[in-house]
Amino acid sequence: MYVGEGFGLTQMEKVIGLARANSIWPLPFATSCCGIEFMATMAATYDLGRFGAERLSFSPRQADLLMVMGTIAKKMGPVLKQVYTQMAEPKWVIAVGACASSGGIFDTYSVLQGIDKVIPVDVYVPGCPPPPEAILDGILKIQELIKHEPIRRRQSEEYNQLLQSYNID
Ligand code: SF4
Repeated sequence: MYVGEGFGLTQMEKVIGLARANSIWPLPFATSCCGIEFMATMAATYDLGRFGAERLSFSPRQADLLMVMGTIAKKMGPVLKQVYTQMAEPKWVIAVGACASSGGIFDTYSVLQGIDKVIPVDVYVPGCPPPPEAILDGILKIQELIKHEPIRRRQSEEYNQLLQSYNID
């Protein structure tokens, strides 16, 4: 940013990034214990509202951050993918906890070994369960990604190829 007497100049891309990063509308896709940690993250002590992300959305069409928290059974994979595809661009994804990131302790035939088998993930939050501090850290990391995302990334060939690798149009 360039600041002079009585004026300031910056790039539109930076302003848009800043606005997007500080007005996230998360969709909590919580299936088990990690979801309880998210409830604590929303409550008064940790207060996700301090980061401008307190407006949760249970409709994919009014959300831009998919937060997947908990064990995802393989039969839930297509449902998760449908929720993701119904979200408008630009959208981001956090895998919260070991189960969403890698299947966690459930190395079994019925559990998806990480949600990145069905949708692209931007940030992984480690832990079983991750405490609210770790979830907040994941939010801060996604805010950094959003702030610095090039405004044309979603139209780029690389992004299209990423979606195509997941069979998403
Ligand atoms: S990572 Fe641990 S706490 Fe989170 S859903 Fe899996 S088993 Fe539960």
